[in-house]
Parts: sequence; structure tokens; C-alpha cells
Amino acid sequence: MTAVIESEEHKALRSAVSALGRRYGRDYITRTIAEGRHPTELWAEAGKLGYLGVNLPEEYGGGGGGIGELSIVLEELGAAGSPLLMLVVSPAICGTVISRFGTEEQKRAWLPGLADGTRTMAFGITEPDAGSNSHRITTTARRDGADWLLTGRKIYVSGVDQADATLIVGRTADARTGSLKPCLFIVPRDTEGFARHPIDMELNAAEKQFELVLDDVRLPADALVGDEDAGLLQLFAGLNPERIMTAAFAIGMGRHALAKAIEYARVRTVWKVPIGAHQAIAHPLAQAHIDLELARLMMQKAAHLYDSGDDIGAGEAANMAKYAAAEACVKAVDQAVHTLGGAGLTREFGLASLITASRVARIAPVSREMILNYVSHQTLGLPKSY
Ligand SMILES: Cc1cc2nc3c(=O)[nH]c(=O)nc-3n(C[C@H](O)[C@H](O)[C@H](O)COP(=O)(O)OP(=O)(O)OC[C@H]3O[C@@H](n4cnc5c(N)ncnc54)[C@H](O)[C@@H]3O)c2cc1C
Repeated sequence: MTAVIESEEHKALRSAVSALGRRYGRDYITRTIAEGRHPTELWAEAGKLGYLGVNLPEEYGGGGGGIGELSIVLEELGAAGSPLLMLVVSPAICGTVISRFGTEEQKRAWLPGLADGTRTMAFGITEPDAGSNSHRITTTARRDGADWLLTGRKIYVSGVDQADATLIVGRTADARTGSLKPCLFIVPRDTEGFARHPIDMELNAAEKQFELVLDDVRLPADALVGDEDAGLLQLFAGLNPERIMTAAFAIGMGRHALAKAIEYARVRTVWKVPIGAHQAIAHPLAQAHIDLELARLMMQKAAHLYDSGDDIGAGEAANMAKYAAAEACVKAVDQAVHTLGGAGLTREFGLASLITASRVARIAPVSREMILNYVSHQTLGLPKSY
């Protein structure tokens, strides 16, 4: 199936990234987590090989491709057991927003580093009192001479400690309408008044989540990315790639778990035949495989629409792809753990911790219910309950 849909270049990229992923694999990520480090070696090598910036413009050091190519990178690293969560935010959201709306100076300052991995950028939109309702965010920017002063709180922002800066979504103080007019600011990690507190997550991941407190953070005029009046268009230019990349993250993880289960089911014998010969074991694995393939198809459609410049069409497809991939991932991981019996809960096989990890894509960056709301209202034209 993929043979028909993917170009030779895409297949070559898939197999090259897969080879890199296998050289690191799950053991590398497990070691990195145990040592409290970030996966810097893999990040650096992927950057050198041009994989982190495949979607960024060539003139700024990128590969000149799109989210289609970047999603292949993340899916294959994940399938090898070594996903890089920061790919979802650094090149996909921040790199896209800066290349589409940034000034020439911002592009020169950030894109080459984001592309080769020497610089990383986190992304903060979620707020404690807004959650799924990002129209309610209150992080506010007000002018002070030529500068901006940014005040507010964010929550669950990934990788702020490893990122050189965070792209913060705020709103301007003179936005008189009640509707969200988001504006985006680059906040360097060590800016005065920009505090981060790690959140104690029950997640076995190398990337940490942070609560951020911005207390009159003073930023120069050129910290603003794009037009302060451009509104939601600019924001969604980054959020659609985020959804497509979260789908890639989920599909990669699902494939990784499924591969481990298949390997085990082929050889584990407790009666006369390997457990994989029992349809009660084989069929759910086959279903999980089908669900992952279907989710990938939707992800490819979303990436294709986005990369062809159809922001509206990409919005619906990206939501559906993220939904389908998250559900497929949760089911694949659950079935993989079950296939291994008791071994599924041992550290040796490393599957049980994926039960929590697989839930992330169901919640973030937009929850399963909010996608179902979107499809109910936008696609099916049903009335809104909230
Ligand atoms: C591991 C991880 C990493 C993250 N990384 C980032 C990051 O880098 N940057 C960032 O900005 N954010 C990040 N997030 C935040 C993430 O985007 C939010 O958790 C998500 O948007 C949901 O918001 P919430 O957690 O406040 O849930 P809530 O909005 O409080 O929702 C709680 C529950 O209520 C449901 N619900 C809410 N409204 C409705 C409704 N109208 N109808 C039906 N059900 C509804 C939701 O579906 C959910 O099940 C991350 C989260 C996690 C878990």
C-alpha cells in the first residue's frame, strides 16, 4: 500500500531514518531517561543528517520538503523505539511559523539552527485556566515603548529546559474583542521573569513538561513573530503541523509496540503451537496493524493538503489523522502488552510504560473529545453544546 502512495524519495528517507533509529533504539531512550538526560546524541546526529529540518526552506539550511517528510522522520524514529518529541514542536510548529510569518532577521537567526538541530524551540499555548479552550487564554502582551511586556502562565509545555527559546502564544492588551487574537512571541530560555517549574508527570519520557510563569517578561519589538493582527491564521499554520506530527508520533509508537508483540507471539509456545497461532492473539494484532495503516493514510492526506497550501482542508484532515492515530496507538499498545502476558509488565520488554505514553496523543495537543466536537460541528453541521 505504501509502495503506491509514497515516492521513491519518501521510501528512501523512511529507510534511512529507520536505520538511524535502529542504531539507537528503545534501549538508548531507556538509558537516557534513567540518567536524567535528553537524547542529545540522537538529536545531533539526526540534525547532521538533515532529518530534523527536512520541512524547512533550503535557503535557510533545511531540506526544502514539508510536513509529509518530517512526519516520516518522526514515525520511523518512533517505530524504532526512539521517538524525538521535540520534532513536534521545534521544526514542525516553530520552524513552520517562523518560515511562513517571521521577518528576514528571525528566519536567519532561527531556521538554520532549528534545521541542523543546534538550536531547539519549545511551544507554549496551554494555560491552567483555559485548557482545551484556547480562546480563553489570558497571557497578555502590552507595549512599553518599543518593547513588549509579557505576563501569564502556561502549563504542560514540553522541553523548555532543553530549548533555547519558547514560542509563547499570548494576546495583546488592546485586543478589544472577546475572541482570541493570538500573537506569538519568542522568549529566550533565560530571560528575566521567565520561570519554569517541572511538572511531576507519570510518563517515562526523556522530555519533561513544565509550568511557566511569565512575570512582566521584557522582550524587544522583534520578539513578535508575524503580524499582531493576523489572528488565528498564523496560529493554525503551526497547529495543523503539530496535529499531523502527533499522529506520526502515535503511529510510530504503535508500530514499535506491535512489532515487539509479533516477535513474541511467533515464538512463545505454551501448548503445542506458538501463541500467535491462536486467533484470539493473532486477530487483535492484525486489527491493530490495519488501524495503524489506516491512520497513516489519513496522516498522509493531511500532510499532502498542508504541504500543498490548503490550510482549511488540512485542518479537518489533521484533526481526523490525529484522532485515528491516537486511537490506533492506544489499542496497539494495549494489545501488545496483553500478548506478552506477564512479560508485558516486566521492565525487560519495556512495553508497560507505553500504556501511559500512548495516552498522550489522545489528550494532546487537542483531546479526542475536542476533535469529535470539531467533526460534529464543522464537518457534520451539528449544533454546539458548549
Ligand atoms: C505529555 C504532554 C505534553 C504536552 N506538551 C505541550 C506543549 O509542549 N505545549 C503546550 O502548550 N501544551 C502541551 N500539552 C498540553 C495539552 O495540549 C493539553 O493537555 C490539552 O490541550 C488538554 O488540555 P487540558 O489538559 O487542560 O484538559 P482539559 O481542557 O481540562 O480537559 C479535560 C477533559 O475534558 C474534556 N473536555 C473539555 N472540554 C470539552 C468539551 N467541550 N466537550 C467534551 N469534552 C471536553 C477533554 O477532552 C478532556 O478529556 C501537553 C500535554 C501533555 C499531556
